[in-house]
Amino acid sequence: MKVGVIAFQGAVSEHMQMIDSLLGKGSGVAVRSAEELERVSAVIIPGGESTTIGKLMRSSGVFRKLKELGDSSFPIWGTCAGMIMLAREGDAQVERTGELLGLMDMRVKRNAFGRQRESFEEELEVAGIGRCHCVFIRAPAVERIYGRCRALAHFGRYIVAAEQGNLLATAFHPELSGDSRFHRYFISKVDKSIFLNR
Ligand code: GLN
Repeated sequence: MKVGVIAFQGAVSEHMQMIDSLLGKGSGVAVRSAEELERVSAVIIPGGESTTIGKLMRSSGVFRKLKELGDSSFPIWGTCAGMIMLAREGDAQVERTGELLGLMDMRVKRNAFGRQRESFEEELEVAGIGRCHCVFIRAPAVERIYGRCRALAHFGRYIVAAEQGNLLATAFHPELSGDSRFHRYFISKVDKSIFLNR
């Protein structure tokens, strides 16, 4: 199994290392083009700067292809900025990032925790995974879910992890906490997917 990491900008190598450590060297693959998307069984959109990631995804053709794949049950996991990209809608700051993939039935708020708490760590209970040490960095949060989306973790009044069938979104960074349970959880989705043997 090869798991692609959208590799324009942000926490790319941390996700690739985590995938390599779980599935073997070379299993984490950098993806920067629509062609490279054809050769992976799943994709992680990393944290970083959603405006930049979105812009490069669109100009490379990755955006269009990924939207199509996500609609056809291809497994995609977005962390932080990646979570913003997966959302159907967002606040005024999100609107400025440009078009979103719009795959998950949720409304996100960019920089939800503001300047006072730009970066912080919390122990949170995550459905299906357990208690996790969660690292937040200028994190977005989910303000509202609807349709097929379900909440996996809460922090204060926000949802900070959500799932919708083949799609997974976390406002925090499991790739930075050295805890591989989220990556394992995502891989278990890929194991059950029709894209497994690509
Ligand atoms: N605040 C960033 C954005 O809106 C996301 C931060 C992150 O991915 N660590 O793009």
